[in-house]
Formats: sequence, structure tokens, C-alpha cells
Amino acid sequence: MGTARQNAVLAYHEVMLESNYAYCVTSSAFAGHLRLFDSLAKIGQHSPVEITFDDGEQSQLHNALPLLAEYGVFARYFVTPGLIGTAAKFLGWDELKTLQNAGHSIQSHGWSHKFLTFCSDDELAHELSASKQLLEQKLGVAVDEISVPGGRWNRRVIEACAAAGYRRVYVSDPWIATTMFGIEVIGRFMVRRTTTNAELQKIVQRDHSALWKLRMRSQVRQGIVGLVGDGLYHRLWCRLTGYNEFEAARQQDTHD
Ligand SMILES: [Zn+2]
Repeated sequence: MGTARQNAVLAYHEVMLESNYAYCVTSSAFAGHLRLFDSLAKIGQHSPVEITFDDGEQSQLHNALPLLAEYGVFARYFVTPGLIGTAAKFLGWDELKTLQNAGHSIQSHGWSHKFLTFCSDDELAHELSASKQLLEQKLGVAVDEISVPGGRWNRRVIEACAAAGYRRVYVSDPWIATTMFGIEVIGRFMVRRTTTNAELQKIVQRDHSALWKLRMRSQVRQGIVGLVGDGLYHRLWCRLTGYNEFEAARQQDTHD
């Protein structure tokens, strides 16, 4: 854990007309966020905000792309190549090319969205290398950034990312800004359906008490995980939220 980074990095999932789950924001809310960042930047209230998307879903092209273009914002899209073509909701290769041609960066979110901390050494190497190689082959650009599925990471995961040739790892703990094994570990704020503009403004302005509260809430969760184990914690979380485990693993990039 290091000191807070200058830029706020935000993680989005789906952007739909109506929000149907915790990490889905409406198109009008997303437009409102971009308007907020634009107005704060104009009055010199914060450094540029970095926008990221996880999971490579259709709404991130059809609903988010026009709004990004309107505000002249470039985003990072973290996608799982092993899931492309397995369901209609995932962006295909031509669609990823469209995003790339519009100036956005396409990077890795693992091969199949397995939680990296749950992987054996062989599985971990496969998740990291196969996703990097296929993205580079299909898109013709260097892939050296990854966001970790489910926000799960530890020293072993970072070391394996370094061995696979990554340079930056994006995680779901917004106060994180550190370097390990020569890799930059970058914290992100997970934007939810319930995130208000007031809360978002505090995050992009790196408000210490807002970040502190998020960190404390996460430590309470880590305490529970330490008591029951991450596997059981994840199953309990699924039961409480009504997600089946596959959907939850695919959709959720943090739990709390
Ligand atoms: Zn994900």
C-alpha cells in the first residue's frame, strides 16, 4: 500500500438505459459523470480522470462509446478473450477493433475471468499469457496492462503478471498506488448504480476521508475473508446477493 496517486481511476461495467445490477450505471448517469469531470477539470479542480471498463460487454460500445466521443475521453477496456463468442453480450473482435480505431486501449482481464488468487500456478500462467498473446495477435498492439477479475490479487499474482510481461495491474482498491516486482499496481474506484455525483467528486478530488472510509470498509471485509476463507466468503456473497456463482464471478469485480 502506497500513497494516493494523483489521478483517480474509475472502473465501470455495463452502461444501460436502465440499471439491472449493482455495477451497471444508466447512460444518463454516465453522461452526468463525464459532465462532472469535464466541469471540474475546467475549473482546475482535479487531474484527469482515467476511465476503465471491465468484462468487454456490448453496452460499453453501444451506449458508452458515443458519450466518450462527445466528451473527448479515452478509456481502457479490459476484456477476457477466452469468453469472446461464448455469449451475445460480449464484444466480438470486430467490435473491439472499432473501439481501438476510436482511440481506446484494449487490454487484458484474464483469459476466462477466473479469480487469479484461486488459480494453480499453471492456470495462472495460462490466464495471463493466453489472454495477452491472443489480444496482441488479433489487435496488433502491445498488451501490457491487466485488471484482475473479482478484484482478487496478492504478491503471487503480481509476480506472475511480471513474469508474463505485464507492466501495470489495475485492482479494485481505490487507495492503492504501489510498485511490486517492477509492476505498477493501480487502485480503482468501482462505480456502482448507487454512486452519487457528490461521492464521485470526492473520489476524483482524492478526498482523504472518503478514501479512508472505503479502506476501512474493505478491511472489515478482509477480516471476514480471513475468518471464513475467500471461497466460502464468495459463496455466501452469491447467496446473499442472489447471483449464481458463474454470473457473480463474471460480473463482479469487487465484493463488499
Ligand atoms: Zn470482471
